[in-house]
Amino acid sequence: MDTARELVLTLKQGNNSHVGYGLQKEGEALVGHILQNMLKSPLPTLVPETKNEEDSIRYREEGNQHFVMGDDTEAIKCYTMSLAYANDGELMSHAYANRSAALYRKQMFKECLIDIDSALDLGYPEEKRKKLKERGAKAIEEIKKKLKIKKDDPIDTEKLMNMCLSEKVTEVPITVRYRNGKTENKEEINKNGQINGNKEDSVNDCGIPPTKEKEPRYLADEGPLKLTYGPSKEAPAVSDGVTIAFSRKYGRHLVASKEFKPGDVVSFEDPYAHIIYTQKYYTHCHHCLSRSYNLIPCPKCPMSVYCSENCRSVAWDMAHQLECPILAVLGNLFNVDKDKVRMLTKIVRFLIVVTAKGKKITELREDMKVAECNPDNRTAGFTHEGILDSNNAQSALSLATNMTTRPLIGVSAFACISALGAILLSTQTNFFCKKYEMDQLKDIDNIPELKFCGSLMFRACVIMSSNCFTIQQEPGVKTGSGLYVTHSLYNHSCAPNTFRHFEGLTMITRALEPIYPGDQIFTGYGAAYAHMPRSERKEKIMQDYFFECNCPACSSDWPMYNEILQHHVGSISKNKELVEKLKSYKQRLVKNMYDIDAVKSVLGILYKEVSQPCEEIVHAEQYLKSYYLGKFNHMST
Ligand SMILES: [Zn+2]
Ligand SMILES: [Zn+2]
Ligand SMILES: [Zn+2]
Repeated sequence: MDTARELVLTLKQGNNSHVGYGLQKEGEALVGHILQNMLKSPLPTLVPETKNEEDSIRYREEGNQHFVMGDDTEAIKCYTMSLAYANDGELMSHAYANRSAALYRKQMFKECLIDIDSALDLGYPEEKRKKLKERGAKAIEEIKKKLKIKKDDPIDTEKLMNMCLSEKVTEVPITVRYRNGKTENKEEINKNGQINGNKEDSVNDCGIPPTKEKEPRYLADEGPLKLTYGPSKEAPAVSDGVTIAFSRKYGRHLVASKEFKPGDVVSFEDPYAHIIYTQKYYTHCHHCLSRSYNLIPCPKCPMSVYCSENCRSVAWDMAHQLECPILAVLGNLFNVDKDKVRMLTKIVRFLIVVTAKGKKITELREDMKVAECNPDNRTAGFTHEGILDSNNAQSALSLATNMTTRPLIGVSAFACISALGAILLSTQTNFFCKKYEMDQLKDIDNIPELKFCGSLMFRACVIMSSNCFTIQQEPGVKTGSGLYVTHSLYNHSCAPNTFRHFEGLTMITRALEPIYPGDQIFTGYGAAYAHMPRSERKEKIMQDYFFECNCPACSSDWPMYNEILQHHVGSISKNKELVEKLKSYKQRLVKNMYDIDAVKSVLGILYKEVSQPCEEIVHAEQYLKSYYLGKFNHMST
C-alpha cells in the first residue's frame, strides 16, 4: 500500500468526530507527503493570463459583431471583456465608448452616461469625441423625458447628469468614479491603464425630486430585516427561538425552542467566504455578485471586474491582492478541470480569510490547538465568548467534514488540490512573507507554515464540498458559492420546513411551515421532492453528502409537483368547512394579489387541517416562496 493511501486511511479512521476538529495532525501529514512528492517532479510552467492589446481588440470586434446583429446584452459582455483585457487607457476608452452605444440602445441611459464619461476621461481619440458627446446629450434628453422635465426647463444639465449618475442603478449602489462635473478633466493614467486617484461622487442636491420612491425590498415593505424573537445568544445568526443540538444520528443540527409561523425569519447570515462562478465573470461583480452593466476591471488581471470602485477596493483589501496572480495562472494550468479550478479558487479564498491574509497564521495555530481539545461536539468551534460566530475562523473550521464517509479517491484528490494551492500561494504571492522559487520549496520542513496552510486548505476542501450554498440573488440566476457558517448546521430534507432567499450576499431562511418547539429545522440541499424523483434525490444526496435521506417525502414517496397539480393530490375542494374557512383570505387575495399576510394565514390553517402532499399547500408554498424570491417584483416591472 502506498504512503498516501495509508495516510488517507489513517485520517478517515482516526476521525470519528461529527464536526471538523480532530484531524489536524493527520491532515498535515497527508498534505505534507503529497507536497513533497509534487515538488520532486517539475511542475508545468505557469503561464499567467495577462492584459494585452490583441485580446482587447479581438473582444471589442466580437462585441461589434453582436452589436450589429442587435444582441446588446452579448455585446455589452464582450465590451466588458475588451475592457478587462485592455492594457492602456486608450484601449479602455474604446471599450467604454462602444459599451455606451449598446447601453444606449438597451435604453440604459444612466449606465450609458457613466461609460461615456469614463471613455472621455480615459483619452478617447479627439476625432471621435464629438459623436460620443452627442450620444451623451441624447441620453440626458431621454432621462429628462423619464423625469418629465420639459426641454426648456432651466435645470442645470450638469447637475441633472450628476444626479442621474449618483442614483441607485442596481441593488448595490454604484459609486461613480470619474464624475466630477467636468468631463474634460482627464485623470492621470499610468502604464497599466490604472487610474491614479479615485474620486467618488456624492449625490448633488439640485432640487429635482427622485425619479421614483425608493423601492421596498418586497412588494410590501417589512422594514429592516429582523430575526423573529431577536438573535440567539449562542449563535447570533439564528433566532432566539432556535437552539443548536447534537446527536449521533443527526450530527450538529438546529431545533426550534419557540413557535415559528410561515414567513418568520429563522436565520440570516453573511458568507464567511464566497466566490463568483466563472460563467459570471464578465456579467456580475466579483465582490458583491450583483448584475452590472458598468463593470470596471481589476487594474492588474484580466479576470476580475467590479460593479463599483467601492467593491473593487474592498475586494482588493480583503483577498484579491493575493488571489489576483493565482487566478491569472489558474486558467492556463495544465487543463485543470472546471470543478478543480472552482475548488482551488474557493480554498485559496478561504485560507486568505481564515489567516487574515497570512498575518494570523501563528495565532490561528494556537487557537486550533485549543479547539481540537474540546471534546464536546455541540460547542465545537465556539469562540472564547462561547458563541458560534459567522465571522470567526474557529467557528468556520469546526464545520462537518464527513471524513469517515468520504470515498478514498475524493480525499486524495482534495489533498492534491490543497498541495497545489500551497505551491501557488508560495510561488506566486507574498503570502508567506516572500515569494519563493520552486527550488526553495524542496525542503518543506524549512517552511512549516506551508504544511500547516496546505492542511487548512485540505480541511477547507472537505468542509466546503459539503457545506457551501449556491448564491442566487435573482430568481434562477446562480452567481456564486458561499460558506455560511451557521446555515451549515441545518440538516437536509427534500420537503424542508424552511426556504432560503438572498438580499445581496445575505442568506435569509424563513419558515415555510408552522414550526413548533422541539421540531428540527431543515433546509434543502438542492434535492426538492417537487422537482426531482425520489431515486434521483437519493442518489444525489448520497453522492454529495454521504447519507440516506429519510425525510417524509422520501419515506412516503410523495409525488412530484406536476403530478400533485395534475391529479389534485390531497385537494381540499370537497372539504366544505375548510373551504369556507379559507374564503375570506381568498377574497383578500383577489383584491390584492400581493397580500402576503393572507397567504401566510392560509398556510397556517392548511398545515393544521390537512396532511401533505396537498395541492393547495403546494400552491400557497409556491406563492410565499415566489414573493420573497422577488419573482413578483420581476413580473411587475
Ligand atoms: Zn459590487
Ligand atoms: Zn486582479
Ligand atoms: Zn428526502
